[in-house]
Amino acid sequence: MENKDYDYLIVGAGLFGATFAYLAHKQGKKCLVIDKRAHTGGNIYCEDIEGINVHKYGAHIFHTANKDVWDFVNSIVPFNRYTNSPVAIAPNGKLYNLPFNMNTFYQMWDVKTPAEAIEKLDEQRKEAVENMRSAGITEPRNLEEQALSLIGRDIYEQLIKGYTEKQWGRPCSELPAFIIRRLPVRMTFDNNYFNDSYQGIPIGGYNRLINGLLNGIEVRTDTDFFGDRNKWENIAEKIVFTGKIDEFYDYRFGKLEYRTVRFETETLNQSNYQGNAVINYTSAEIPFTRIIEHKHFETFGNAIYDNPKTVISREYSTEWTDGMEPFYPVNDDKNQAIYEQYHKLAEKETKVIFGGRLAEYKYYDMAPIIEQVINLF
Ligand code: UDP
Repeated sequence: MENKDYDYLIVGAGLFGATFAYLAHKQGKKCLVIDKRAHTGGNIYCEDIEGINVHKYGAHIFHTANKDVWDFVNSIVPFNRYTNSPVAIAPNGKLYNLPFNMNTFYQMWDVKTPAEAIEKLDEQRKEAVENMRSAGITEPRNLEEQALSLIGRDIYEQLIKGYTEKQWGRPCSELPAFIIRRLPVRMTFDNNYFNDSYQGIPIGGYNRLINGLLNGIEVRTDTDFFGDRNKWENIAEKIVFTGKIDEFYDYRFGKLEYRTVRFETETLNQSNYQGNAVINYTSAEIPFTRIIEHKHFETFGNAIYDNPKTVISREYSTEWTDGMEPFYPVNDDKNQAIYEQYHKLAEKETKVIFGGRLAEYKYYDMAPIIEQVINLF
């Protein structure tokens, strides 16, 4: 057999690719990582503006319940104690804590105890529960049914409907129910967005995580796999492909749909614009979904006033078209059926490993990606 230059060609220098390269390199494998962008890190890449790490492709908050994963990332770069606790500005103009918890219920209905909140929630859910019963179904069929049966109409209308339809560009009744199950519902006064035991941001920013993973590995940016497919397919024993699976197969079963996000980033001559890293705008009338104030990911307490400036990003969600960066797979029935066809081909590959949000067409968070790569080894 002909000898190849590398054991692995890794297409895409995002979290899947970089973690794979790190672990393979540690086992003595020769890796080449290529990425069509000018930088590594995929969508966790940050840009330094005024001494603040700006999450160029949207807010990334690392969270996991898996100690091995937490220890692994902390062995590359120590993480800080950032805890995500977004606040929502609702169509009624009021502020609400997220995820849905006793603070939210107090703000929405003035209920002060869990017993009062449960009574109110039961009353709110009644409509959906009865509708499902009369339709003869036990499981919610879509995001709207899921939200109404989980949390009721008031919260659905103030905090979910507008936000979700802006983010996904589709009615809630046509979106999969699992999307909303990402959010916890809690009968305690706890504004931590995640249930996981471990959470934080790499101290010094995400680029340190990526640079740590890729340390000592050959990386070529501005290098597109599809620019010279034949050459890249023959350069290594195996290929780890983290790009779009439909593109890999020349769109033969049709194009998968993605949502993309556009950011309007601004530097302001003030230290503290909104007092929180993430403020969601849940009204359908406001064109952006949220505003991120980046310094709050890494600076806490009054230390935020040490920098007289701040950087904010308004986040706009749109449908993906060629030439844009794909962010979110749209896992509705139509797209899922197309994906299954590609996945069948992928399963038969002996030389190619597919991984990550784009190659698996899956709404992955960061930690499960790392967990998956660790398991591969
Ligand atoms: N969501 C919502 N209102 C909010 C925040 C989130 O309805 O204020 C819903 C929305 O459907 C969204 C989903 O919860 O798509 C998941 O939100 P998450 O914040 O986990 O999304 P991500 O951070 O991955 O963009």
